[in-house]
Amino acid sequence: MKFIGAHVSTEGGVENAPINANKIGATAFALFLKNQRQWVAKPLSEASISAFKTNCEKFGYTPKQILPHDGYLINVGSPDPEMLEKSRAAFLDEMQRAEQLGLDRLNFHPGSHLQKVTEEECLKTIAESLNITLDKTKGVTAVLEITAGQGSNVGYSFEHLRFIIDRVEDKSRIGVCIDTAHAYSAGYEIKTAEGFEIVFKEFDEKIGFKYLSGMHINDSKKEFRSRVDRHENLGQGTIEWDLFTRLMKDPRFDNIPLILETPNEDIWAEEIAKLKAMC
Ligand SMILES: [Zn+2]
Ligand SMILES: [Zn+2]
Repeated sequence: MKFIGAHVSTEGGVENAPINANKIGATAFALFLKNQRQWVAKPLSEASISAFKTNCEKFGYTPKQILPHDGYLINVGSPDPEMLEKSRAAFLDEMQRAEQLGLDRLNFHPGSHLQKVTEEECLKTIAESLNITLDKTKGVTAVLEITAGQGSNVGYSFEHLRFIIDRVEDKSRIGVCIDTAHAYSAGYEIKTAEGFEIVFKEFDEKIGFKYLSGMHINDSKKEFRSRVDRHENLGQGTIEWDLFTRLMKDPRFDNIPLILETPNEDIWAEEIAKLKAMC
């Protein structure tokens, strides 16, 4: 079974996300659990939590169809002690919000070294942050999103993700999200049938499909290996439709949230319908 949706708005409260997802015919959705550009937000109210759960039930969304995304300011690999502390507190808050909503996973960008430490040191800090956070929470898997490798972001290779996973103590609560635009920009050739087979074989060998907890389904504005993170609507970028057709027909991508983060949200319903028709 394929679960297909988009990163929907939570304007007016998290409880509106399942309503917005249902409106576009989605069988999965992503959402922010607080304002993604602010450090602190008021706690989720009991009313909001209960309305979220009611709406998910009403429209048939179970936790494996929902992939919350953490805020953009968080860097749990920060080389700056003050920033790291702030990031860890904010990340814990996000994990706790997911827990309160009855969700089982939280997608996040691994982190950035900001040219101050090596990639390896940054990856070690991220693993340490995860161990601290997982120790204080329960039931929620931290899902590492592959990055395009823009700027000083780490997490742009299967080796980086594996390095972190190896150092996480509770391996039952660590997962991976492959963003197709990020992977392509980072240098994974998933556009052709041959490339697709090679890349996902490598993924299975180096990481393992059991860790795949979600996917971001995006085309890319930028060329292969650009290391620039710019999403495009499906079929309108440099990756083209073939990849998305292949994904829909491949059972290795069943039963996880497949999320559009394409820029023109007016055509999300159309994109979802098109993807669904290919399954
Ligand atoms: Zn992301
Ligand atoms: Zn993404």
